[in-house]
Amino acid sequence: MTPINASAAGSPTGRLQQQDNVFIHPWEDLAALGGNHRTIIARGEGIHLIDTDGNRMIDGPGGMWCVNIGHGRREIADAIAGQAMTLGYFSPWAVSAEAPARLAARLAAAAPGDLDHVFFTTGGSTAVDSALRFAFFYNNLMGRPQKKQVIARIGGYHGSTHLAAGCSGKLSEKRHMDMPDGVHLLSCPKPLLRPAGMSVDAFCDARVAELEAKILELGADRVAAFIAEPVLASGGVIIPPDDYHRRCLDVCRRHDVLYISDEVVTAFGRLGHLFASEAVFGIRPDMITLAKGLTSGYVPMGALLISDRLLRDIAGAGGDARVFFSGFTYSGHPVAAAAALANLDVIERDGLLAHVRRVMPHFSARLRALADLPVVAEVRVIGLMAGVECTLDAAHPHEDRDYAFTLRVDRHCQRMGLLVRPVYNMCVMSPPLIITEAQIDRMVDILRAGIEQAMAEVA
Ligand code: PLP
Repeated sequence: MTPINASAAGSPTGRLQQQDNVFIHPWEDLAALGGNHRTIIARGEGIHLIDTDGNRMIDGPGGMWCVNIGHGRREIADAIAGQAMTLGYFSPWAVSAEAPARLAARLAAAAPGDLDHVFFTTGGSTAVDSALRFAFFYNNLMGRPQKKQVIARIGGYHGSTHLAAGCSGKLSEKRHMDMPDGVHLLSCPKPLLRPAGMSVDAFCDARVAELEAKILELGADRVAAFIAEPVLASGGVIIPPDDYHRRCLDVCRRHDVLYISDEVVTAFGRLGHLFASEAVFGIRPDMITLAKGLTSGYVPMGALLISDRLLRDIAGAGGDARVFFSGFTYSGHPVAAAAALANLDVIERDGLLAHVRRVMPHFSARLRALADLPVVAEVRVIGLMAGVECTLDAAHPHEDRDYAFTLRVDRHCQRMGLLVRPVYNMCVMSPPLIITEAQIDRMVDILRAGIEQAMAEVA
């Protein structure tokens, strides 16, 4: 076995790393193109990834918050192969097919409230884009074409298509990237950011008041939608104060603003329930966006759940302009739908939601204990997702220096058997939901050792 990230140029891994330099990865530093030595993953088994040199690592980020039922599941492979042999594609414009029809009905039956309609997309960004396009279309049909402004939050992430990226609130990632007009960002509902002496309740009051003030400032007759992740995932597992979502929904209802809950990360078990909006946060939004855990990442698929109320409004609008001119060649793709159905079967059959709820306290307790390390500013945990925030000098946080630190942590952890996903100064953990308590212990032990080794280097 050769060490991770440093394979010799002529070795099989070295050759693959060279070929990989043509692959422009997400968030690629184009100035560094050609000089990367990424770990090349050969295969996945359960919660583990195995690289081309045979090194075995726990998949800390669970793919990208998505490999919920774990790697290498025969059930999903069989469903994909079976569907590909039976029907590999159909035109969703012309006809329909069994797998997406069954999947739509199953999602609608499990979804909160009257979210009874499913619009399939190719992933999370296209689900968010579709939600926003639907909101605009809805307002046009309701005779209020000026109601098009969108409110989102700093720290949120909603995807990489033009509209979805516009709603994302990771400000440093908007540099040099053109953004759509009409998106307004509220401050981040991260309790750690509250001024000294302010209670979490008062902080919650302030964030909710800020939403209402923004709607009033823009004019309620101009605001179409508020979009929010229940937990700001890529922003670093930011958990808003209790009751924040319910109170934001009240504000939206008061001003006739649609509430879009972006559950691309939080659905399909990550928080111990199929959907988190109602079960964890007590809200029934107007739309929910889904992707990732829908197929556990085996094939791309996203979905937008739309409330029956909105569709009834549209039906009542009359006129000849009710066609929602939006859709994708791969809307309801049968192979993806078959994978999603098999994924739901596994979640149900293996009692995965109950398993998550059972191991959550252990996951939380073990990770929270990392807060005793001097460099750890805060550990945030909810369900099976966690953000371990590292700040080298609490009095003078420095984005680049702290990010370099978490990259060091990742390198050490990879060598010891854990892949970490650093998001700036945060080590983010969202392992496959099948993880056991013993595996959680191993994951956290490695993370602690990785942080300690990185601390020793920068001391
Ligand atoms: N919404 C949320 C909350 C996400 O975390 C992501 C991706 O990480 C997206 C949307 C975009 O999904 P995709 O990358 O599948 O387009």
